[in-house]
Amino acid sequence: MEDYLVRAVTTAGNVRALACVTTGLVNEACRRHGATPTASVALGRALTAAALMGALLKDRQRVGLKFEGNGPLKKILVEAESWGGVRGCVGEPCAALPPVDGRIDVAGALGRAGFLTVTKDLGFGKPYQGMVRLYTSEIGEDLAYYLAESEQIPSAVGLTAVLSPTGEIAVAGGFLVQSLPPADESLIGRLARRIESMGALADLLAGPTGPEELLHTIFGDIVLTGLGRQALCFQCNCGREKVRRVLAAMDRSELEAIIAEQQAVEVVCEFCKTSYRFDTV
Ligand SMILES: [Zn+2]
Repeated sequence: MEDYLVRAVTTAGNVRALACVTTGLVNEACRRHGATPTASVALGRALTAAALMGALLKDRQRVGLKFEGNGPLKKILVEAESWGGVRGCVGEPCAALPPVDGRIDVAGALGRAGFLTVTKDLGFGKPYQGMVRLYTSEIGEDLAYYLAESEQIPSAVGLTAVLSPTGEIAVAGGFLVQSLPPADESLIGRLARRIESMGALADLLAGPTGPEELLHTIFGDIVLTGLGRQALCFQCNCGREKVRRVLAAMDRSELEAIIAEQQAVEVVCEFCKTSYRFDTV
């Protein structure tokens, strides 16, 4: 099944909803980074968070989320483009923690103390940046906390990435529901109760129209206007020319010394692990 995201808005326009399935792109990222089950679940949630945030952007804009904690994963970096390209990496993909009550310990792996920094490249001038302390380090609650605190948009975020018995991601995806002004407090209360009482996200997302099913479960008989469907995929924005420009800005004699000793300079992209080799600079 392909990865995609759906968006919708209530008839009155004061609640926005996004839902997505990201299983394919999360597995692609985890495979590239050789991530342990612990790192895979954490990265899977963060990549899904990026996909949801990316869908709020306008054309040609980009968002990056940096989770930095005092746990063994050290950090999680994820980025999304407005058109649906998503990429990401973790500081220590080999980090592994024993499960807690049968669940992957994402909060323990990221660490309870740290920061979430959100950077938005809106296509003009200096990128916008907002930062909050990590709230629960479960990723979804941290994003909701950031949106409420830093952007003043009350939001409910649900993210899931569950493992198959072979250690791959069986299902990944999530939702973002936001209250827009003027806030409809009674509707928000109803939605919050429905979100609290609904079943496991992964079960709701497992079907062929998972994201639509998920929104239907959250909103029930509250009428939504669909705003379209967008494909999502793992896509890095690195490239040989881009790497060459970075090298061109570095100390030439140092690069020449590396080439003399190792026959080439090798640069590996942090996000996608693509290796670029240059035998001249
Ligand atoms: Zn790359």
